[in-house]
Amino acid sequence: MPRSFSKLSLPAPCLANLAAIGYEAMTPIQAASLPEILQNKDLIVQAKTGSGKTAAFGLGILAKLDPAKCCVQALVLCPTHELAEQVGTELRRLARYLPNIKILTICGGAPMQVQFNSLAHGAHIVVGTPGRIQKHVRKGGLPLAALTTLVLDEGDRLLDMGFYDGILDIADAAPKHRQTLLFSATFPGRIMEMSRAVQKDAAKIATDTEHCDESIRQIFYKTAKPERNNLLYTLIAHYQPESTVVFCNTKQSCRDAADYLRNKGFSVAGLHGDLDQEQRTRVFTQFANRSTSILVATDVASRGLDIDSLAAVINYELSPDPEVHVHRIGRTGRAGKDGLALSICLETQDFLVQRIEEYQKRPVQWEDPASLTRRPGKLVPAMVTFALNGGKKDKIRPGDILGVLTGDAGLPGSSVGKINIFDSYAYVAVAREDADKFKHWLAHGKLKGRSFKAVSA
Ligand code: AMP
Repeated sequence: MPRSFSKLSLPAPCLANLAAIGYEAMTPIQAASLPEILQNKDLIVQAKTGSGKTAAFGLGILAKLDPAKCCVQALVLCPTHELAEQVGTELRRLARYLPNIKILTICGGAPMQVQFNSLAHGAHIVVGTPGRIQKHVRKGGLPLAALTTLVLDEGDRLLDMGFYDGILDIADAAPKHRQTLLFSATFPGRIMEMSRAVQKDAAKIATDTEHCDESIRQIFYKTAKPERNNLLYTLIAHYQPESTVVFCNTKQSCRDAADYLRNKGFSVAGLHGDLDQEQRTRVFTQFANRSTSILVATDVASRGLDIDSLAAVINYELSPDPEVHVHRIGRTGRAGKDGLALSICLETQDFLVQRIEEYQKRPVQWEDPASLTRRPGKLVPAMVTFALNGGKKDKIRPGDILGVLTGDAGLPGSSVGKINIFDSYAYVAVAREDADKFKHWLAHGKLKGRSFKAVSA
């Protein structure tokens, strides 16, 4: 596939700008989708963050934009405020060669009136979250009569966050003759439903189909539904993996499985769409720094979770989509380490296993749950996380914390784990056996001339 941007029908200043910002060749997703996007086709594109998807739709938007018309010609819907900001920033970079292009970011949480005034001044491109965009459209502050491109970014997350109806409502307010581009990392059934509702003859584009890795030991266990929690417990107590992600298909089962394991005394956190950004960050950070042993997650919520050494993945529920299954188990056994993927199959779910076998083109391995034994000893996380009431605003850097802990506090360097600094607080992972030394320092010591306290992590 040709990878040079110059093969595309993009204006010369646009190509010059791409060279200036260092985009020398197209990423695989751009090479696969951009020629079609520039032909004004509707597409469903399988792409994750980091694939270069924003430039794929961004260049498509800019190629047909009429700068002389100061009305909204493109609308990009994103699941979160952060993502909308990122998309807005990338679009501005891509549009540098076009003077006077106005790109507005319109998200929930900001005052309506200020946004209303900005919109009244006119914009060429609007990026935002569906709830707030829908409000402006309804109130007449965001006319869509001149819209030529609608982009749904991270479609699976948009659905997970309950934006389906809002998106349909917005699409209804836009002209029928428009291009609609849908980007999504995974394809649950409702993505195709949304595609049918808002797109026309959309072609599907995917680049990196993931295949099963030989280094992953994959074992299936069959059980009756009432026994599933019990089996989950047995699997963890038998294998005692240092870090495990337990995958569920729904928020509800995610909560149920997490509650069950917590009641059994495991160190566990649930990660699902109901958590706000701060809670997600906390859960992610504590799992990544080895202070939580088990993370129970839905597929969408676990996106972006990049752990180098995940000892095991457990499918509490099998995914109906074999591609999602392979994606899940691909998270263990990274970086040359052996992985362990354990899947619980209910007695009525053989058809799901068949799909997986067809997809991975080989039979799966079964084991009898009766062959498992709960080994004695508790699975205790290696680290403990402390949250300090100081962060970037206080000019604290990871080196400052490491310095004081290995100096004044007397902790060996090997006892200090990941240090994550946020605006007004910092998470510090400390080896469990040295937690008391850390607490002692906290009570008596200082960092950058002031004392700190631990806030709840
Ligand atoms: P995205 O998947 O859109 O979040 O993009 C991931 C990152 O890749 C962003 O930082 C982009 O600026 C960058 N990027 C996108 N396309 C290219 C390209 N063709 N060459 C180099 N970097 C790119």
